[in-house]
Amino acid sequence: GLAVLSATRDLAVALVDVAQHFARLAEALRLLLSPHEMRDHPQASALVARGARMTFENVAFAYPGGAQVFEGFSLDIAPGQRVGLAGPSGGGKSTLAALAQRMYPLRQGRILIDGHDIAHATEDSLRAAIAFVPQDTALLNRTLMENIRYGRPDASDEEVWAAARAARCGGFIERLPAGLDTIVGDRGVKLSGGQRQRIAIARAFLKNAPLLIFDEATSALDGASEEAIRGAMETLMAGRTVIMIAHRIATLRAFDRILVLQSGRLVEDGAPDQLMARDGLYRRLVRDEIDRLNEKQSAA
Ligand code: ADP
Ligand code: MG
Repeated sequence: GLAVLSATRDLAVALVDVAQHFARLAEALRLLLSPHEMRDHPQASALVARGARMTFENVAFAYPGGAQVFEGFSLDIAPGQRVGLAGPSGGGKSTLAALAQRMYPLRQGRILIDGHDIAHATEDSLRAAIAFVPQDTALLNRTLMENIRYGRPDASDEEVWAAARAARCGGFIERLPAGLDTIVGDRGVKLSGGQRQRIAIARAFLKNAPLLIFDEATSALDGASEEAIRGAMETLMAGRTVIMIAHRIATLRAFDRILVLQSGRLVEDGAPDQLMARDGLYRRLVRDEIDRLNEKQSAA
């Protein structure tokens, strides 16, 4: 009797041990899969983003071991505003987008979404508030269904389909051998840059976050893809706050506001036509881009 009791107890202890190992393993994996994300602050509370307003308050930031990128940087983006980030390479556009997603801790100051300091938001609530569409999307070697569902893991098949159609993926998905069940990625059907970008947009539709951050694709896409992406993005941006890192300044023509960043400073801030009327960096960037396009055309 006692032997059985003791064995049962040993087994129970072992099971608790195994469970704890799994919990630690899961935690380790979570950190591994998102190397830049910070752990939740001990007093973290859920961020409820509605608008969403984004505010930078007196932000100072430097990469570990690097020079200061931002110092005394303040910025207020109103709910529903479409803001384009422009300026020379190294000006701080990507860093601003990374800080907005809490990829690095600040040296000083605060970043708030709808008044909630993101440093004190739970990770899940912060992830849910922001959809990020990168320049190029690496797909998982899984089905398209799983790749899109990555935007919101609890979405139903119907919701995934609706997001795919909203992102103008419907046409090319229907032409794939197994539709949404087609395996994509390096070891599956390879999608074009434009198709991958529409998958990223489909994820963002599914996520339905009030704040969108885009890093515009640098490489030119084929004409049909480009048009489909523009249309999908228009629909996605409606009613949301948008921050777009623009590599082609022409993309920002219809935006509410353009921020020109140079050496981590906001050197210009205003509506596109306002900035065009000034003899500043924005106008110079627009002119340079037009010149480059003309050169390309006369060379062709
Ligand atoms: P942009 O996107 O406008 O080209 P970045 O935000 O990438 O500018 O860069 C701003 C500054 O930060 C630059 O001086 C750049 O060299 C530096 N920087 C960018 N990323 C890193 C990084 N991961 N580590 C260290 N320094 C970086
Ligand atoms: Mg950049």
